[in-house]
Amino acid sequence: MEILHEHAVVIAGGGPTGLMLAGELALAGVDVAIVERRASQDLVGVRGLGLHSRTIEVFDQRGIADRFLSQGQLHRVGFSFHHTLLDISDLPSRHSYFLALGQQQIERILAGWVDELGPALYRGREVTGFAQDDNGVDVALSDGTFLRAKYLVGCDGGRSVVRKAAGIEFPGWDATKSWLIAEVRMTEEPAWGFREDDTGTYAIGKLDDPGAMRVVLTEQALKIGGEPTLNEVREALVAVYGTDYGAHNALSISRFTDTARQAANYRDRRVLLAGDAAHVHPPMGGHGLNIGVQDAVNLGWKLAQVVKGISPESLLDTYYAERHPVGARVLRETMANVALQRPDVRTKAVGEILAEFLKLEEVRRKVIAEKSGLDIHYELGEGHRLLGRRMPDLELVTGNGPLRVFTLLHQARPVLLNIDEPGGLDITPWADRVQVVEGKYAGAWELPAIGAVTAPTAVLVRPDGYVAWVGEANQLGLHEALTTWFGGAIAASHTS
Ligand SMILES: Cc1cc2nc3c(=O)[nH]c(=O)nc-3n(C[C@H](O)[C@H](O)[C@H](O)COP(=O)(O)OP(=O)(O)OC[C@H]3O[C@@H](n4cnc5c(N)ncnc54)[C@H](O)[C@@H]3O)c2cc1C
Repeated sequence: MEILHEHAVVIAGGGPTGLMLAGELALAGVDVAIVERRASQDLVGVRGLGLHSRTIEVFDQRGIADRFLSQGQLHRVGFSFHHTLLDISDLPSRHSYFLALGQQQIERILAGWVDELGPALYRGREVTGFAQDDNGVDVALSDGTFLRAKYLVGCDGGRSVVRKAAGIEFPGWDATKSWLIAEVRMTEEPAWGFREDDTGTYAIGKLDDPGAMRVVLTEQALKIGGEPTLNEVREALVAVYGTDYGAHNALSISRFTDTARQAANYRDRRVLLAGDAAHVHPPMGGHGLNIGVQDAVNLGWKLAQVVKGISPESLLDTYYAERHPVGARVLRETMANVALQRPDVRTKAVGEILAEFLKLEEVRRKVIAEKSGLDIHYELGEGHRLLGRRMPDLELVTGNGPLRVFTLLHQARPVLLNIDEPGGLDITPWADRVQVVEGKYAGAWELPAIGAVTAPTAVLVRPDGYVAWVGEANQLGLHEALTTWFGGAIAASHTS
């Protein structure tokens, strides 16, 4: 067996999830490599269309949000839920909007960031299988060579070879419907907007490029896989509109279905799954890319600590425990969305009742907090309402001037924030791993959907921006939380 190279972590797949994970591991000083089938970052077909608030916050935590904001378009009436448009401008976040930006640009920006951080990238090669033992994984590549790694992460999409080779089950629901999504030019003015019939829903909308339009068409019969053609788009248009409006020059054509599946586990010993490799669902609501990136941010720092010997392998179990429920919730929402598209009169009645509920302020607040990803709550036990929730990006007053909390996370290092009397928190045994920052904040602590919560005196924030411990005028439980998340008081701090 020819071992080409050894790395601490090999990632199969350099889509949004794999790129984000590579960046997170590289930031933590881990020797990481990506194996990517595509020879370049170019994408075929239409895929992700934008970023939700929490994903933009996650990029802000790493200091790269501006790269995305400078290329996308902000939409404050950010979401639609079954035809009801929802205003999200009052979400308590700096990023209370949907950022319209194509997956192609998102991947290019991420790839640029990763390139600056320096992971190895094996392009134009596929992971074809692997064998794992107690010490590591031999990763087989399509050119006949092997990479040796301590851990392998499958970020290789919905048809994940890694998931299949690991024998991880992928239970869920088969497709019942398929759609074509295409960007084309037309010689005639089409019927803009939405249309419904007994088969499903259809939409034609303008793109920035003058003369180009995006069509989304329910297919008359379920089709799975294959490369859809312009002829199929034309036929689907004729079936609904009676004309193809002279559709020509397809810029991109994709097919998607309402398949919804989720991996039964996200880890088998030294092999992990993230992104579409761990969950697939229809694209309604635009969640897939967003939760894949957030999977990577949850996993990255944990895997880095395990690789470096700072934390035991059991820390990786929290990745599944925290992220599986997030994926399950997205599957539920997208399945509901598809069900509501049924044209029968009874389903329409359900849709009308839902639209009435969405007019209620409390319901709107709950739904937008969920869809934006800002209400994610990891079960870290009883306590203050901040525990397990995202840390808000407060502007602190410090001895060195104003300081935004997210800037403290740029290097993906944990931070203990003391908002009480300076010097009151002693965490000397963890000082090599956890930064302590003193600051004051007099404003309200407002959480999405929940509202104002009692101001804490200190918070321990994980590298992914979630609160691991909350101080309320004492240090009860602080050392236990530090040990749980950032290793014991005498943890070995090796570099990989
Ligand atoms: C029509 C459509 C619209 C969508 N709209 C949205 C949206 O608006 N918002 C949103 O958030 N999401 C959307 N999605 C979903 C989004 O595109 C995916 O969830 C996202 O791409 C998942 O990222 P990933 O990195 O996990 O997987 P992928 O993007 O699938 O990336 C996997 C990567 O692995 C590579 N690869 C595969 N197998 C191997 C192998 N064996 N070895 C090496 N490399 C391999 C592939 O080339 C690819 O680069 C949409 C999807 C579709 C189809």
